[in-house]
Amino acid sequence: MIPVVALVGRPNVGKSTLFNRLTRTRDALVADFPGLTRDRKYGKAELEEHEFIVIDTGGIDGTEEGVETKMAEQSLAAIEEADVVLFLVDGRAGLTSSDEAIAKHLRSREKPTFLVVNKIDGIDADSACAEFWKLGMDGMYQIAAAQNRGVTALMERALAPFADNLKAAAQEDSDEVHIEDLTSVEDIEKANLSEADAEAAYKRLQEQPIKLAIIGRPNVGKSTLTNRILGEERVVVYDMPGTTRDSIYIPMEREGQEYVLIDTAGIRRRKNMHEAVEKFSVIQTLKAVEDANVVLLVIDARENISDQDLSLLGFALNAGRSLVIAVNKWDGLDNEVKERVKSELDRRLGFVDFARIHFISALHGTGVGHLYESVQEAYQSATKRISTSMLTRIMQMAQDDHQPPMIRGRRVKLKYAHAGGYNPPIIVVHGNLVNELPGSYKRYLMNYYRKSLEMMGTPIRIQFQSSD
Ligand code: GDP
Ligand code: GDP
Repeated sequence: MIPVVALVGRPNVGKSTLFNRLTRTRDALVADFPGLTRDRKYGKAELEEHEFIVIDTGGIDGTEEGVETKMAEQSLAAIEEADVVLFLVDGRAGLTSSDEAIAKHLRSREKPTFLVVNKIDGIDADSACAEFWKLGMDGMYQIAAAQNRGVTALMERALAPFADNLKAAAQEDSDEVHIEDLTSVEDIEKANLSEADAEAAYKRLQEQPIKLAIIGRPNVGKSTLTNRILGEERVVVYDMPGTTRDSIYIPMEREGQEYVLIDTAGIRRRKNMHEAVEKFSVIQTLKAVEDANVVLLVIDARENISDQDLSLLGFALNAGRSLVIAVNKWDGLDNEVKERVKSELDRRLGFVDFARIHFISALHGTGVGHLYESVQEAYQSATKRISTSMLTRIMQMAQDDHQPPMIRGRRVKLKYAHAGGYNPPIIVVHGNLVNELPGSYKRYLMNYYRKSLEMMGTPIRIQFQSSD
């Protein structure tokens, strides 16, 4: 599971600066859910071999209204959901009563917490830091987020427990490889199997349960759909402290295909359908996306496509997940409204043309059955094994149909292609000057591959490697 790191501290200590620093490697995808999470920001970060989700909890001023209520309202949820808390203070401003109020709160939580003294550039760091020992935290890290000083060392420490887990798992794997233990495309590729064994491993993988995350903003109908999918039988699970914020994994089977539903709607925690669920959780949704094979994004036909829908979509795409879109509440709409919704989808979601769109009514069950076909198709596409010869042949056909343009008087030549990864499929294309190909030709190639390989439902990434 991908770790979650929360940045906590009073305003102006440098949380946003650190957030931007950490999420910079990819575009910082910021989910802004006004009214739900205030102005908290969520981003995916990569640092060396670590991947993690960062939350900027927004400014907490411990003194204004009492830290308990303020934090309880705004940031407590984020802290509860986080695996690690970075508590930022300002080395230049020195210790404030807000810092003390926040520290008191954090000490009462049993969360791995790192005290981070920021802005230590250009000052005598050790003497500036001395007074922060009063906060009673176990250790202290000195950084200058704006200069990227100390950030890597801090994150190495903060994320070490998660890296160790990974290593331990890898260690176990490496002793002896059993095909039945290889549960992801990455594992298979790493295992260096013979061609026949790899074939068998892929075949097995395609028969694995599909991990399906049903996501969407509040009220789009996720729980109604989850109930519909699970049938009328609902198993009630009582709220248990500490578990309420974790997604629940529900195994199910349909027409011989096994699935594991990752429930982000809290369906199994409601005692009945009419009971309010706890708040929608962005972090839970992001974790579900990371852990899923296929993401089913639910959109409400009765609302305009919002930035929130697009943020969630952005996270799924960024994670490289296969995607199916369900436009829900399609019942009882007149034709004019239906046409308007469809043209809005074309306009705003045109860029995810690989994803199948279904118009459904979770309430009445209309169209729900067909979702499975698209989910299966997306999963098969994302995990399909494609040989070098096939990828090269398709590349050649694309090139014969439509020559790449001249660049500075020279013809770009595509030479060969091979797979660089799966789920999402990565295709590496070699040739001369390929890095300088215009975007339009790159898109042409991508679409050519998509059509030839019949890859619906999954993003495809093409990487270009110039041989001169
Ligand atoms: P936030 O309110 O906690 O999110 O704080 P910001 O990230 O917005 O930073 C507040 C101010 O501190 C900005 O003017 C930043 O440029 C400045 N700042 C952030 N990090 C550093 C640092 O490492 N050194 C110095 N000197 N200034 C910093
Ligand atoms: P969630 O917050 O995404 O889990 O949304 P819910 O499943 O709780 O649904 C929110 C509201 O939309 C409820 O009042 C549902 O009855 C209603 N709803 C869900 N699906 C449909 C649908 O297909 N058609 C109509 N008309 N209403 C629906």
